[in-house]
Amino acid sequence: MPRNRYRQCPACNTASLDSSSHPSIFDCRLCHGLWFEDGALNQAIAEHHDGVDQYDHEQHLGPALRTSDRLCRRCRVPMTHYQLLAHYTTEIDCCPGCDGVWLDKHEVDQVMQSPQLKQALKDLNQKVSWKSWLFQFLTAMPVEYNVKPHRTPWVTRTLVFLCALVFGVGALSAEANEWIFVNLGLNSDTQSPSHFVLQLLSYQFVHGGLMHLVGNMYFLWIIGDNLEDALGHGAFLALYLFAGIMAALAELLLFDASQGPLLLVGASGSIAALFGLYLMWFRHASLTFMIIVYQKKLAPHWYFLIWSLINLFGMFTAQGGVAWAAHLGGFGLGLLLGYLLRDYVLRKNPLIAMLNQPEAAINR
Ligand SMILES: [Zn+2]
Ligand SMILES: [Zn+2]
Repeated sequence: MPRNRYRQCPACNTASLDSSSHPSIFDCRLCHGLWFEDGALNQAIAEHHDGVDQYDHEQHLGPALRTSDRLCRRCRVPMTHYQLLAHYTTEIDCCPGCDGVWLDKHEVDQVMQSPQLKQALKDLNQKVSWKSWLFQFLTAMPVEYNVKPHRTPWVTRTLVFLCALVFGVGALSAEANEWIFVNLGLNSDTQSPSHFVLQLLSYQFVHGGLMHLVGNMYFLWIIGDNLEDALGHGAFLALYLFAGIMAALAELLLFDASQGPLLLVGASGSIAALFGLYLMWFRHASLTFMIIVYQKKLAPHWYFLIWSLINLFGMFTAQGGVAWAAHLGGFGLGLLLGYLLRDYVLRKNPLIAMLNQPEAAINR
């Protein structure tokens, strides 16, 4: 049957290609891979993206790797293995004679998303610039490299605003500051249960000094936007406040009552939980670390490992004024929740899922 000759699946090597609703796209009924020809792949990618009229996937391919053992449906010549993008090591088969492309089933989503994937990898792989060096040198704060969020981070912004507002009001007068600390800070001597429950929430918005506020808000600002985008506004807010409550309970559990009552303020516990979530979901992101004058992009797990060691050291040498147990308790909770919610978050965010694959090549 001569027609069958053109029905040959490049992967299965049997006449198993079926026509689809598109005249230039065929799918294999056995392996469910897809064959594209006559510009159908570029058309499909463009249709997948709002605002993209034309796309030429060949322009964005990574290096040609080797000759494939698969044959082009039409030309019957071996195809060539190309890396999908310069920094994404998925390999696809392209025909050297025509524009035919064969995609295995698991590659289809990656190829359809490749314009976003390329932009994301470009953002993630930026080198540290003199600006980021100067910023960290002057502020001792890290610079973050992550994908741009799609959603406006309203919750993150509101949390930052409220913390700044509470601090601003406290700065007006000593009485105001005193009132805020006594009523909104978490006090282990608080008698009324309802007031204590309120304090479990309100202490997260009170800060003990400008540096405490600025440090916390900076971290909330840089990592909160991506987490809020990944989770959705409501879930992000619920998780943030819940982590703050749990971090306070961890501190209450471990504090030494003979040292007097515990007064706890600050968003550090809630933000430490965000660190845990960030580490579990954004393995492709980087935070810069600086040793005197040498700045280096680090993967989140390295960055937060160093951060945890500093906290453990602080806890065992019992330096006063910092809620080490709240930090570590919040971080532990974040890791646990990050682990439990990981599949859900990656399913909801296909781009993040693809960047979590080993195929994503991150330069640090
Ligand atoms: Zn097949
Ligand atoms: Zn061909």
